[in-house]
Amino acid sequence: RISFDLICPRPLHMMVTWILLGQVPFSLEDPDYKGLELDLIVLCEKHGKPSERLVAFEGTMTGRRFLACAEPEGQNCGFVQWVDEQWPPTMENALLKLWSMVEESKSARVNDNLQSALTIHQLTEEKNKLDADYDKLVKDVHQLVDFQQDRVVDFSYLQSAVTYQHQCRAELVAG
Ligand SMILES: [Zn+2]
Repeated sequence: RISFDLICPRPLHMMVTWILLGQVPFSLEDPDYKGLELDLIVLCEKHGKPSERLVAFEGTMTGRRFLACAEPEGQNCGFVQWVDEQWPPTMENALLKLWSMVEESKSARVNDNLQSALTIHQLTEEKNKLDADYDKLVKDVHQLVDFQQDRVVDFSYLQSAVTYQHQCRAELVAG
């Protein structure tokens, strides 16, 4: 259900920033835990409005339910209250391992994309060269055809010169 493109874990250094600045963690769409929390009355501090149910989807917090300010980005006050306790260290380690594997496969994919971009570039160059070769070939053929026509003209000129000489000679003989 989740494609790799939707997975966007914050790098570790950004997670530190998140903890320091109190930003809302990335979350995962979960059909069992979503929408406004109206059973527990947890109002976000700044707006005083009911908070939204979310499931964290980054780092060691992955899978933990939390309540957050429901306002859209830009107006969101960053209010977060955890519903689930912090996972035990073994679970946190396993999650970090999984995220690092995701990170690795993503960078491998970036390399693949770079490689195919290079290949496309090379193929384009080759095609351009072939096009240029073809244009040159067409030009050469045209020149050859022109040359042949010139030769035909030359030949007919030669022909008339020969005929003229024949005539002169015939007149001389007759005269
Ligand atoms: Zn708020």
